[in-house]
Amino acid sequence: MITATTLPSVLLAYVDESWNKPRDVIRLGAVVCDGDGALAIVEALDEIMEKVVADFKLPGDTEFHGYDLFWGEEEWVDVPIEARKQIIREAVDAITSNYETLFVRGLHIPCHDRVWPRWPSLRWVLMQLLERLNDDLHPSPVLVIADSSQYDELHRAQFKEFRKYGTPGYRNSKLERIVDTLHFAESKSSRLLQAADLMLYIYQRIKTDKNPDPRLAKFYAELEKMIFNRGKYVRAWTYCPYDEQPYISCHIRERGE
Ligand SMILES: [Zn+2]
Repeated sequence: MITATTLPSVLLAYVDESWNKPRDVIRLGAVVCDGDGALAIVEALDEIMEKVVADFKLPGDTEFHGYDLFWGEEEWVDVPIEARKQIIREAVDAITSNYETLFVRGLHIPCHDRVWPRWPSLRWVLMQLLERLNDDLHPSPVLVIADSSQYDELHRAQFKEFRKYGTPGYRNSKLERIVDTLHFAESKSSRLLQAADLMLYIYQRIKTDKNPDPRLAKFYAELEKMIFNRGKYVRAWTYCPYDEQPYISCHIRERGE
């Protein structure tokens, strides 16, 4: 008989992609959790949203969407800033208490295109994220579930190519621990994809907002503590082929992210 302790654990990686404002940096982020963690995150986020929907009379299908939640856009337009901050706080607390890790891979597109013009930036950053999921979570197999977009078929085709020939570069991995294929789902019906969106957005804000006003800086510090000080392994790296790593600014085009 198979008992719970002998069952191998599969990890779930929920992946979202995001561009910065001038669209010169692309990032892919993955919230990684085990089955119990996934259930706990969904339950907690549902609970938070249920209360918010009732308190502020929002549509029942309102999502946790990082940008809108931060800036009070779309459904969140009438929700006061302090309330939105509290919602973000509670959501990040629920996610970071129950996930295993956060991965972020980013790329400075103009420099990448100059150095490797034959390598589309999206393909490069996808490869880097998949290599990390494959290697760093060893020996757990990883099921990848990504936010559905216009690039689903492209991502699938690229994954197939990596599987067959190995990823190019020094790692040359066939991504053996990634289960089957890349799976895609709609974020509107997945709290965990919403969690990936929220965490990626927050990570991006914390790391790139160089001169926030003091109240926002205090809020960032609070979120940063939840993300980085919980003994969870966070692996984040943004790359510019011309510059020091991790990428903060670029000497080709002097600008913070
Ligand atoms: Zn650069």
